[in-house]
Amino acid sequence: MTNEMPGLMSKEEAYFPVKDLGEPNQRLDEREKEGFSSAIAKKYPHLKRVVGVLDEEDEKFVSAELAKFNAQGVEAVKGEVEKTEKEIEMITMAKKGADEILFQFGGENLYDTPLERIHVLKGNIRGNKDNAGIWDNRTNSIEVKRQSNSVKFIMDAFHEIVHSKAYNALQILHDNGNRSLSLYRYGLEVSARDGKVDYLEALNEAATHELEKIFFAKYIKDNMSFSEKDRYKAMTHGTVHEPEPKYRDNDSGGLLTKIIEDLSDSLFESVKDLPEYSEFKSKEDLKKMIVASAVTGNILKLVKMRETFIGPIKS
Ligand SMILES: [Zn+2]
Repeated sequence: MTNEMPGLMSKEEAYFPVKDLGEPNQRLDEREKEGFSSAIAKKYPHLKRVVGVLDEEDEKFVSAELAKFNAQGVEAVKGEVEKTEKEIEMITMAKKGADEILFQFGGENLYDTPLERIHVLKGNIRGNKDNAGIWDNRTNSIEVKRQSNSVKFIMDAFHEIVHSKAYNALQILHDNGNRSLSLYRYGLEVSARDGKVDYLEALNEAATHELEKIFFAKYIKDNMSFSEKDRYKAMTHGTVHEPEPKYRDNDSGGLLTKIIEDLSDSLFESVKDLPEYSEFKSKEDLKKMIVASAVTGNILKLVKMRETFIGPIKS
């Protein structure tokens, strides 16, 4: 069985609304400068592609924008503090853990954000008090908030590091003769080719949260270099039915878990008797496939199943 749709080469565009660039279902990739995209990926290894580049003017624009953004990524940000030894140690540990865990989900040649592009801040990140961290794939930089609880800090750093190592791509938008450089892919997340809608954002966060749980269980839960109090704070008591303490099950973490559990559940119910999906022996296999799609960026199988068995992806 082939996963390719006839007449469409780009995976995302088979499923997500595409800005009309010509004939319906035209192979958009044919209009892209593949050579340019791979040169960009070579120069900026955090990016896999830049889509929508149609001519030399576009190439010039993208090159200039990326040079500008990339330089911004090493500049000090407002509220930045010098990283402590301990913070540097934790960032290094989070990177190593991310490499190890993402490899198990098919991640290869993973990007390593240099330390000077990882900014530790006191105070709000980009003006949002709820932001504990951010990965910016235009400036190629991470911002993470300093925390008094070191478990909270390393988990936040891990989260953004995972985003930086997942599939990242940008697109050029053309609007009335104006060009802009904008998000295209971010793990599972796909932006429409008019830049107006982002798809699978919540599921992408849910997949990232699954990776956090694995990192926590393996690197942090029983690690005596973190205080018991800090480790305990990241977990809930569990309930009478599930007495095992769990990582962040009592806050938004629990909601993210529900998103991926519900999807794995309903996909498994749909395919369990279908021989063409016999690779999925359990709900757990489906969950692994979703997480792997976020890591590698190969989302075709997932979106195809999601569309076939649940319905069109609207957000
Ligand atoms: Zn995130």
